[in-house]
Amino acid sequence: AASRQGNLDEGALHLLQTVFGYPSFRDQQARIVKHVASGGDALVLMPTGGGKSLCYQIPALLRDGVGIVVSPLIALMQDQVDALAEVGVRAAFLNSTQTFDEALRIEKMMRDGELDLVYIAPERLMTQRCLELLSATRLALFAIDEAHCVSQWGHDFRPEYIKLSILHERFPQVPRIALTATADQQTREEIIHRLQLEEALQFVSSFDRPNIRYQIVEKANGRKQVLDFIEAQHKNDAGIVYCLSRKKVEETAEFLNENGLTALPYHAGMDFATRSKNQARFLREEGIVMVATIAFGMGIDKPDVRFVAHLDLPKSIEGYYQETGRAGRDGASANAWMAYGLQDVVQQRRMIDESEANETFKRVQGIKLDAMLGLCETLNCRRVHILDYFGQAAGPCGNCDTCLNPPSSFDGSVAAQKILSTIYRVDQRFAAGHVIDILRGIDTERVKQWRHEQLSTYGIGSDKSEAEWRALVRQLIALGLVAVDYESYSSLKLTDASRAVLRGEQKVQLRQYQKPQKAVKHKRQS
Ligand code: ADP
Ligand code: ZN
Repeated sequence: AASRQGNLDEGALHLLQTVFGYPSFRDQQARIVKHVASGGDALVLMPTGGGKSLCYQIPALLRDGVGIVVSPLIALMQDQVDALAEVGVRAAFLNSTQTFDEALRIEKMMRDGELDLVYIAPERLMTQRCLELLSATRLALFAIDEAHCVSQWGHDFRPEYIKLSILHERFPQVPRIALTATADQQTREEIIHRLQLEEALQFVSSFDRPNIRYQIVEKANGRKQVLDFIEAQHKNDAGIVYCLSRKKVEETAEFLNENGLTALPYHAGMDFATRSKNQARFLREEGIVMVATIAFGMGIDKPDVRFVAHLDLPKSIEGYYQETGRAGRDGASANAWMAYGLQDVVQQRRMIDESEANETFKRVQGIKLDAMLGLCETLNCRRVHILDYFGQAAGPCGNCDTCLNPPSSFDGSVAAQKILSTIYRVDQRFAAGHVIDILRGIDTERVKQWRHEQLSTYGIGSDKSEAEWRALVRQLIALGLVAVDYESYSSLKLTDASRAVLRGEQKVQLRQYQKPQKAVKHKRQS
């Protein structure tokens, strides 16, 4: 790396402009760069797309020696190194995808001081061989990317990350910068504790993405709704439509294509060549809609994605935030749109239930899903809810659906009692569809077969549509007043909490049903 500049501020800005081609630093970047370049430890909490990379790349260039970047995302290392090479930074990586000879060549260059940045997978770093290599190399800094991987509570836990405290013990004089987009207090404390970063300065960026408008709508016919949404608000815009399954990705892409959009599928089950081709087209051409599983997006850097649509419920607010965060990176207005229904809740709960994971992990997943459901069902500002989840206080934003079009709530105690008592009367042995048929007094084969037309609750809910009842059942599930038993045909069960409602001791406030509407054309805010 270039030898140390007399004036760090000037040196940093010079590199930013001449090497990376950006006119100025974004909010905290300048302070972080200066702190790390002058040898301090740092913990950087910055949302995805915020610009974490420069926070270690520029200090690595300013300091003597090689900057070591620990990252679990080996799949992205080649791209990162290529991008750096393009602007003339001498970068390389060490991971299991390369040949032994290649690795030997990189190792030699490190020892000879011929590299500025080297990306290393954590399991590789912890090997005796690699630690010896580091001892024989002049080191500029350690950057620990995706630092939340040390957290056993997170969804990305990597056991090797815990061992990274070795770096501090072995190389106490080398500054460390840990970076993550996961900001909740618990994760933060775990990072500090496990990586021995007690002395590090913390840089916490705002997680707000004010140009993104959040909108969550009742799901009726998801793909028709997303088509309407795109046609009304995003004609010829680039966007991403996320679906849970590969099959749904294919079907949705086909449907959108048949309806005049240019939609491309992307999921991990497709062959590599097609996937890369679709990704390249999305990046290069204008107005492409990528229909994808969450396999798509990691490391994708397209500033003018105008919308992200979810046709299925994400597993957590972290996931939702990360995926929607791919919209509007250029700062111009963008939409995060999601259609959500009863089936989503049932499906996500079932996935947790049926997974092979241990009980603790399932419990954590359940808590995360509940938080996500809370966001979907909230009567308050979506942004306030999201930021609160990340430990950041904020006031109503005026740029989300609940701010723009406040939902009304109503005393849903009677409706809830109707549902709960029907569940009780059918011995907690039937799924939502049948329970709703009974409430609405529908004369189905199954009703006849079980003589459910004789129940006292038969037909007491004929005032509401099936969709309305579904929305109510969904809210009761989200509130923990109804449980779903996946072991037996997704039948609905009462919970401890539901008894108080059933007995009239506890009131329930519910969201007023809003009929799925055809999307209306909005004027873009500039
Ligand atoms: P993160 O790692 O936080 O998700 P990146 O480091 O990948 O974010 O940066 C996201 C995007 O923002 C990249 O395209 C990057 O080049 C761009 N970027 C970062 N800092 C600046 C800056 N100061 N000025 C302009 N663009 C920037
Ligand atoms: Zn709002």
